[in-house]
Amino acid sequence: MPRLTLFALLFLIVFPSPAQTLATRDRPTYSRIKAHLDRIPSIDTHEHIQPFSEIPGRIRTERGIGVNLFSVWKNSYYAGVHKLTPWIDGQTFDSWWNAAQGDFENAKATSFYRYQLSAFRDLYGVDFETITAAQARELDRRIFENYKSAAWIRHVVTEKANVELMLFDPRIRFDFEPPYDFAVLALRVNPLLLAFHPDETPDPLHSPYVFARSRGLRMGSLDDYLAVLDRLFQEASRTGIVCLKYSGAYRRTLHFDRVGSAEAAAVFGRPRQELSAHQIKAFEDFVFWKLCELAAKHDLPFQVHTGHGRLQGSNPMLLLDVIEANPKTKFVLFHGGFPWVGETGAIAMRNIRNVWIDSVWLPTISYTMGKRALHEWLELLPSDKILWGGDAALVEGLYGAAIYMRECLAEVLAEKVEDGQLREQDALRIGRQILRENALSLFPGMRKKLWKSATR
Ligand SMILES: [Zn+2]
Repeated sequence: MPRLTLFALLFLIVFPSPAQTLATRDRPTYSRIKAHLDRIPSIDTHEHIQPFSEIPGRIRTERGIGVNLFSVWKNSYYAGVHKLTPWIDGQTFDSWWNAAQGDFENAKATSFYRYQLSAFRDLYGVDFETITAAQARELDRRIFENYKSAAWIRHVVTEKANVELMLFDPRIRFDFEPPYDFAVLALRVNPLLLAFHPDETPDPLHSPYVFARSRGLRMGSLDDYLAVLDRLFQEASRTGIVCLKYSGAYRRTLHFDRVGSAEAAAVFGRPRQELSAHQIKAFEDFVFWKLCELAAKHDLPFQVHTGHGRLQGSNPMLLLDVIEANPKTKFVLFHGGFPWVGETGAIAMRNIRNVWIDSVWLPTISYTMGKRALHEWLELLPSDKILWGGDAALVEGLYGAAIYMRECLAEVLAEKVEDGQLREQDALRIGRQILRENALSLFPGMRKKLWKSATR
């Protein structure tokens, strides 16, 4: 070996280059911040954990009907992108696992696979990366046993994931009764945009026509409908609902034209077959603007799904006109607008008084994108504008999302501290804001339901 190379080698051993120093997660700064974040009872702004009797994923197994390992993967985000061998009604676990064990091969680096690993590791003591057939069988058995009781739901959410309260999006109905004592309700407004005719909202659980009838209100004209909406929002806030949730971007564009009431009134009461696509969109657009007004009137922040899902028309930039024309409406942009996380930061920065960003789902979609977004938003915005949520159907997914968020946030804060861009005590405070305090400030109605008294 030439002398110079030997010297260079010795130099590198004594003075390692930054690339050879410890990764963020192996540094003491990260460990201290992470330990702090883990102790914070968090407020999770968005979940779909249904009432226990309606938990999804119950299938016919050799042990009877219940939730098993297949259900956990199937009802996670993994299944939307990756291969998962279907469950055949009544089959044995071993026969399914024989076929399914190779399914995960191409998913190994993806966040949709990896976010669930912490649930298997921490809730079941299993390393899914090296799982054997015997361990898989035992994991399956334990999942099935756990889902025999609602106690499992509470245990994982409140103890394991350390979530004090979660905002529950019931997806399918106007519900005034939260399914768990640690749940607070959001009002799903999607069906309201389509209520130009009773046939458009066939499910009585989320029909404004059924709601109006049960309260003795008329639904004969657009004005009647607007009065019904006002009454619905009044009742919602009186019964403890703390926000609205709209996820129509899975179906249509987020561009809402400002439509006059005459145009909307001409659509109201007519069946779809008599209307053009343009007329239907105009009605929806009109109602969306009205909902923004009512959200301000009843002080209900408006959670809006943006980005990933149906990508066409889901760029949050399309909301700018409606956001700027409704300065008293509190808009919460969901999923950080993924993949438009930079644009979402710019929107919030420009409309700092009435826009919040919710990172719900983001680290689970892409851990790296989650880190990048948090780094950028913290540089752009006051630290009280960022929130988090899990967006899971089963508690294993909620747990994985919660752990991923705490890790992602701890890494971002530790990197800023190590780079000299943030004092550690401020990093700890920001962590507490994002995981907890910001949600309580935005949804003050949640404070009444706090119950982890020692840390209140
Ligand atoms: Zn959701």
